[in-house]
Amino acid sequence: MIYQSTRGGHTAADTAAVLEGLAPDGGLYIDPALAGRPFDWRNCLTLPPLGVAEAVLRHLLPGFEGMGELVRRAYAGKFETEELTPLVQVGDEYVLELFRGPTSAFKDVALSMLPQLITAARRQEGVTDRIVILTATSGDTGKAALEGFHDVEGTGIVVFYPDGGVSPVQRAQMATQEGGNVKVCAVRGNFDDCQRGVKEAFAAIGSGDALKGKGVRLSSANSINIGRLAPQVSYYFLAYGELVRRGRIAVGDPVDFCVPTGNFGDILAGYYARLMGLPVGRLVCASNANRVLTDFLATGVYDRRRDFLRTSSPSMDILVSSNLERLLYLAAGGDGALVAGCMERLSRDGVYTLPPEPMAKIRQVFSGFCCDEAGTEAAIARVWRERSYLCDTHTAVAFSAAWDYEKQSGGSAPMVVLSTASPYKFPAAVLKALGGDLSGDEFQQMETLERLTNVPIPKGLRGLKEKPVLHTDVIDKEQILPYVLGLIDRKEV
Ligand SMILES: *Cc1c(COP(=O)(O)O)cnc(C)c1O
Repeated sequence: MIYQSTRGGHTAADTAAVLEGLAPDGGLYIDPALAGRPFDWRNCLTLPPLGVAEAVLRHLLPGFEGMGELVRRAYAGKFETEELTPLVQVGDEYVLELFRGPTSAFKDVALSMLPQLITAARRQEGVTDRIVILTATSGDTGKAALEGFHDVEGTGIVVFYPDGGVSPVQRAQMATQEGGNVKVCAVRGNFDDCQRGVKEAFAAIGSGDALKGKGVRLSSANSINIGRLAPQVSYYFLAYGELVRRGRIAVGDPVDFCVPTGNFGDILAGYYARLMGLPVGRLVCASNANRVLTDFLATGVYDRRRDFLRTSSPSMDILVSSNLERLLYLAAGGDGALVAGCMERLSRDGVYTLPPEPMAKIRQVFSGFCCDEAGTEAAIARVWRERSYLCDTHTAVAFSAAWDYEKQSGGSAPMVVLSTASPYKFPAAVLKALGGDLSGDEFQQMETLERLTNVPIPKGLRGLKEKPVLHTDVIDKEQILPYVLGLIDRKEV
């Protein structure tokens, strides 16, 4: 299977695309023929969860050998339930719980699979170098990536997080990570400093010969990698199949999905499912106060020239949604020059306007809604009081958007709200919304929340406070490159 860059000419086999991550021209890898290749989606609905993942991944990444085994290694026994992503009816809506993986975040779905794809690609491409993953994280991605890559042969992983910039629970999750090929390091600075430092390390190492003769090459676990996007397509089929099994819909009826969105990977996976034939109705893009996508869908103008707001749903605090580039490419009928032009204007001027035709195509499927901090809090409280369901801040933003969409459209199709994190990852914000007692640290707040709601704390988060801290390194932001080179020299990752 030949993948193509969203910005034009560059191509790569699917295995090479997974190893590379980003195309050399700065574009994202995409299958230009996706919509035209037939997929037996009806049969897919009858398969067990691992079978669905295998069928979907074989279709999207056909160059990979032994996909069934890769899927089994990624998921079997690692999630709380065999359904992987359970569907729960909550009032008039359905909630698709994507957070039942080992780190209680939806990133687990993709980051359990990515290491398997990277090691398989390495083998098939005949690469003997070890692959060292560098990741900057604002919280969730770091832990999910560590969990996915620890002790995976032929790989190592280094995670950088802002010192004092992640929640105590997130910090404890990362600092207690076991494994012989992992390293976690705090950086004196904010998330942007971490991200910039990692990007500069990639650039410096990529253009020079710092790694020459060391048998190591670098890669990234960021969601621009097609190997991170593809595994997320499966759960749209799982949710739809479950609604059929429960008699809520007949095969062929449309189902709407509402997705709490940051980098646009999760919701784009829903569009992929639609292109593969699944009767996905509307895709509702939910944003918090950083409403750049809501405005884009309303006006056709993407404008990142605005203040970055810190909210209680931090994984959605983002002004440049990388995966939107793949949607632009698809909506523009594969016009790489148009995409490259938009991306160039975005980086130079901070703004671009999409021409009316591709914009109309996007609006046929996507709607955008947003809510502020008060709206997020109100949604958590309402879902708990009226429906006895405890949701996290990101899921609350999605509920709010789903209600707004239903009010506006009078929607008749079932609505599936994607839930991306356990409420116990954000205990302070959730407790506050419920009017609970906020005294003590985050670990005590978790226990207060459990006593108040009787919803059990996930296994991976309980007892975190007692686990031994294994990672204590703290460096200045200028030290990221020498730190990485030192680890590689000492063979610590
Ligand atoms: C990453 C993340 C999101 C956003 O997903 P995208 O694919 O980046 O749009 C939403 N919620 C949580 C909890 C996340 O970790």
